Amino acid sequence: MKRTLTVCPYCGCGCMFYLVSDKGRLIGVEPSTTHPINRGGLCVKGWNAFAFVHHPDRLTTPLVRRDGALQPASWDEALTLVVERLRGVQEKHGADAVMFASSAKATNEENYLLMKLARAVFGTNNIDHCARLCHSSTVTGLAETFGSGAMTNSVSCIDQTDLILVIGSNTTEQHPLIGSRILNAARNGTRLIVADNRRIRLARHADLHLRHKNGSDVPLLLGIMHVIIAEELGDPDFIAARTENYAALAAAAANWTPERAAAATGLTSAEIVATARLYAGAKRAMIFYSMGITQHSHGVDNVRGIAALAMLTGNVGRPGTGVNPLRGQNNVQGGCDMGALPDLYCGYQKVADPQLRDKFARAWGVAYLPETPGLPLTRAMDAASAGYIQGMFIMGENPMISDPDQGHAFTALQNLELLVVQDIFLTETALLADIVLPAACYAEKEGTFTNTERRIQRLRKAVEPPGGARADGEIICDLAERAGYQGMRYSSPAKVMDEIATLTPIYGGIAYDRLDPHGLQWPCPNRSHPGTPLLHVERFTRGLGHFSPVVHRLPAEIPDDEYPLVLTTGRTYFHWHTGSMTRRTHLLDREEPRSFIELHPDDAARLGVRDRDALLVTSRRGEIETQARVTTMVIPGVVFMPFHFAEGAANALTNNVLDPESSIPEFKVCAVRVEKLP
Ligand code: SF4
Repeated sequence: MKRTLTVCPYCGCGCMFYLVSDKGRLIGVEPSTTHPINRGGLCVKGWNAFAFVHHPDRLTTPLVRRDGALQPASWDEALTLVVERLRGVQEKHGADAVMFASSAKATNEENYLLMKLARAVFGTNNIDHCARLCHSSTVTGLAETFGSGAMTNSVSCIDQTDLILVIGSNTTEQHPLIGSRILNAARNGTRLIVADNRRIRLARHADLHLRHKNGSDVPLLLGIMHVIIAEELGDPDFIAARTENYAALAAAAANWTPERAAAATGLTSAEIVATARLYAGAKRAMIFYSMGITQHSHGVDNVRGIAALAMLTGNVGRPGTGVNPLRGQNNVQGGCDMGALPDLYCGYQKVADPQLRDKFARAWGVAYLPETPGLPLTRAMDAASAGYIQGMFIMGENPMISDPDQGHAFTALQNLELLVVQDIFLTETALLADIVLPAACYAEKEGTFTNTERRIQRLRKAVEPPGGARADGEIICDLAERAGYQGMRYSSPAKVMDEIATLTPIYGGIAYDRLDPHGLQWPCPNRSHPGTPLLHVERFTRGLGHFSPVVHRLPAEIPDDEYPLVLTTGRTYFHWHTGSMTRRTHLLDREEPRSFIELHPDDAARLGVRDRDALLVTSRRGEIETQARVTTMVIPGVVFMPFHFAEGAANALTNNVLDPESSIPEFKVCAVRVEKLP
């Protein structure tokens, strides 16, 4: 038997484990006992992370659509066709008629390579990835306030803090190893505030559980800040020395008395006052948040409010403090770091800056790089519906299940002249493709992932890919070569990282020989730098922390007589994202085999619904059938659905209205009607 140390392919915790293989087949997983996050533990997904790898559904050969059906083709034929047809679309409709969707499941090196392919070879900044759907509000909001859109602190700070505020994160289910660390801290006396109207597991152990209305985070945060300012509980020295624009924030909070905030949130004014006093009274307080904050049409304002609350109380730049967005996918932090974003090169360097364009053009050996920022993924879907985007290359993403308003996503993808999908399974999106390229999964290749605490870690090849499947990076380099570009010849992923390090200041000291055993945290500017567990220690990345005034806006769609319930969506403990891997893992699918909707007993009684009844759920965008789960997990008037299931897909219902600044969709609030099926 062979043991190969690698990184879990699911959530942003970035746990490390050994893949155990025998005669070229994976047979199990053993957690690393020394890793700083998982410390010998794993969640149920990690323990089962080997099971989908040899699934018979794995793609093993390229497929090309002929006579309306996807049929096997050689690599030579498929790759030549991809290049010819992408070029054809560009000749007919312009360079920006194609869109590249990168992947938070692919490695840093592969995200960098696809970014380079889009910009240097195909001459477009139309490159993005699923961070657009989860944390683009964080990237925008924290870049503006702090200068960096990543977790300010490390997970180990949980053991050093006095208080943890969790808002919009079901941490024990989405980031289980971080969730259990928070539970342990609470057991050992750390105060815990949970702001989430579902009665999530953390809430059962909280000192305060705030069940505020969906979409009312801004009034909640403004109300808390109003009390802190009125009762002089903030940190005036920190505000004076480290921040700017405080007066604007104070003016924005001035009218948000606890009574007004209570009316907007559905809480009591006493709860808001108690929260303010508890949070501001802690010597060291950490905030953790996730998609309950970001996935709103005012997601950036939510993030600004959180950043302001931390600065107001001096809770940035010290151990046990900070603003900590929990990144969802295993490498969504890395996808952003690598510039799989329409306006940024790797290391958050702006494409609109002529000096930076010149730097990348020289390094990549090209005469020209496009200067106008490209389209965010969500807007590219709109552009495809309208006919402006005609070609799309999607690597390791499944927008048919993960995008809001499934009908809209379907129309957009069907409208394309060319759809190429590179993936490990024939996903719901791949089924619509003109060309499908079979990729290797995480266990079959080398590279690095960057976890939610900015830790860059190595994954290693444990087994060979099935049939003719190839690593994403190899496929991208082959495409570049066939497109006539010779600047993507690398002998290994380590050489790609060497190139990344020369072009990306925050990764300047990253090299494979430095990443054992448990990686390095960026910024790591040079080879002698030990990495940075804590950001913004003496100064913010942008210099002074910026208080951005926050304005309250209602969600785009609120309940009415026709659609009287609020639908919110999320994940479950047993499944991951669009389920392409976990639903092919027997033990996980057995635990949670079907779509369901949680509804409160009061709503169930009014509708005459009992537990496990079949229901029809309808929104202005579509309807689905699912099963009732009657529970006090949710509050009256609110229903919850996980979005993992293709049958009973929650995203057939969700609203694709976007935050105007970050282009993130409002997954967390839409209006629905629920009816019992006969
Ligand atoms: Fe994998 Fe996240 Fe579970 Fe760790 S907590 S084993 S990274 S899914």
